Amino acid sequence: MKKKNHKYIFVIGGVMSGVGKGVAVSAIGKILQAKGFSVNPVKVDPYLNVDAGTMNPTEHGEVFVLDSGMECDQDMGNYERFMEVNLGSEDYITSGMVYKQVIEKERALGYKGKCVEAIPHITDEIRRRIERAAEVSGSDVSLVEIGGTVGDYQNIMFIEAARGMKLKNPGDVLFIIVTYLPIPNKIGEMKTKPTQNAVRQLNSYGVQPDIIIARSEVALDAKRKEKIAIWCNVPAEAVVSAPDIESIYEVPLNFERDNIGALILERLGLKSRVRKDGLAKWRNFVARVKNPKGEAKVAIVGKYFDSGDFVLSDAYISVIEAIKHSAAKLGIKANLTWLNAKKLETGEEKVETLKNYAGVIVPGGFGESGIEGKLAVIKYCRENKIPFLGLCYGMQLMCVEFARNVLGLKDANTTEINPEAPHKIIDIMPDQKKKLAEGNYGGSMRLGAYPAQLIPGTIAHRAYSNSLDYKLEVKSYLPDGKASKLISERHRHRYEVNPEYVEELKKNGLVFSGKSPDNKLMEIAELPRRVHPFFLGTQFHPEFKSRPLAPHPLFTEFLKVCVKLGK
Ligand code: GLN
Repeated sequence: MKKKNHKYIFVIGGVMSGVGKGVAVSAIGKILQAKGFSVNPVKVDPYLNVDAGTMNPTEHGEVFVLDSGMECDQDMGNYERFMEVNLGSEDYITSGMVYKQVIEKERALGYKGKCVEAIPHITDEIRRRIERAAEVSGSDVSLVEIGGTVGDYQNIMFIEAARGMKLKNPGDVLFIIVTYLPIPNKIGEMKTKPTQNAVRQLNSYGVQPDIIIARSEVALDAKRKEKIAIWCNVPAEAVVSAPDIESIYEVPLNFERDNIGALILERLGLKSRVRKDGLAKWRNFVARVKNPKGEAKVAIVGKYFDSGDFVLSDAYISVIEAIKHSAAKLGIKANLTWLNAKKLETGEEKVETLKNYAGVIVPGGFGESGIEGKLAVIKYCRENKIPFLGLCYGMQLMCVEFARNVLGLKDANTTEINPEAPHKIIDIMPDQKKKLAEGNYGGSMRLGAYPAQLIPGTIAHRAYSNSLDYKLEVKSYLPDGKASKLISERHRHRYEVNPEYVEELKKNGLVFSGKSPDNKLMEIAELPRRVHPFFLGTQFHPEFKSRPLAPHPLFTEFLKVCVKLGK
């Protein structure tokens, strides 16, 4: 139920995108939690896609998956990591969802003959969704990030809905704008004009920001704060300096230097509920990130890097963060290199370069391009005993490689690439085939959290059991009458290891150390330690559940072996 006097904080971007609004929101959430308040973050994406599932990662970065199976924006991953929460489907809102609902209601005569209009019907639906998220979470504060930048055409409805909420309960609603202050090379001075213009634009919608978070390369000086205060109509103490920093995890600590927590509480008429330093553990974690005692060189072999002339690793953000969490736990820094699977396939880059790395990761992916490159990488890692971690597609390809080169089934493949392959090592399960035949592509994916049992005596079982900080959400489970524990991990894939080949793969030495509770689906594959130091793949995405203070045991185990073997 929504609490009385529940508070809403809306965060909007100004000047330009990509300046770290999602991280700013995550940091504010962390700070409010540290002051004793429960927070439910909500991401609003103004695009018309109903969810992020159909988007190519090079378009919009990684598709993050919640326990519920909701496919959403990568910012949701940042919220979960910073605030240590598991978010629900109601915490994600797109224009697509909003319009779909309103149009369906209209078609069903839900508006009783009225003319249905953007205002108030779309804005009402937005408000309903935001309030519903607050209700479901039972939190003290909703922290709503409105995607895009002020001045975009697409997010106007969301800002209008928020304006209406403030009008109704002025004391319970706060607006924060995150802007950027450029320091043009030739001028050499930090300029406030773009921020002034962004705030003016927001004013033209009837919204005055209460707090301005000013991103820039360096910290703002008193003069710049004063200038923004005068022109943007806020007191100078409401201008928070947010300079570039080494690690995103330092942002909450940095914001607190400008006392943003106290400022927000004061504006919302709240008092801190905590006396001690609520960020102590976080501070510790950041110290470990910033002062590593060693390093491990890790190669990530992927394909979603190209964005025009630029190379972005946004598509793999959860993998990168999961590695960072485990590295901090081990007190080291993981030095990451991106290898393009397509170049490895054409021979433009040589697999032999892999011997320069302590370990190799093949993350998730879809489709044909770069596949043979990835298979060559996996073969090289297996034969040369280089620690290898395969995630989803990486695990499926690990099974294909093993079938081709150890079982000698030369034309083994996944039916995602070759539906007619004589040896369909990775295939669609029968019930999914039916859905696909009906053209139901979305419905044929295995999405969200599923339980799995771990097989005692395996690397996976040991890694999970030894990891006290990782909350497994394990339940007691009784396979064949013996009490065991279940793990819960998030999935996003259509294909599975074909049960018809499981026995043969096992006979030849591949161990399935994680399975679905009914034994039908293979969830983790590995080689025993006596054969290979670390060769393990997961059908699920462990990276979605890793948290700074609770790193994922499989990433930690992988890195531990990398460090031990050196490089
Ligand atoms: N393309 C594979 C499948 O759909 C793997 C997906 C993934 O890596 N997320 O099964």
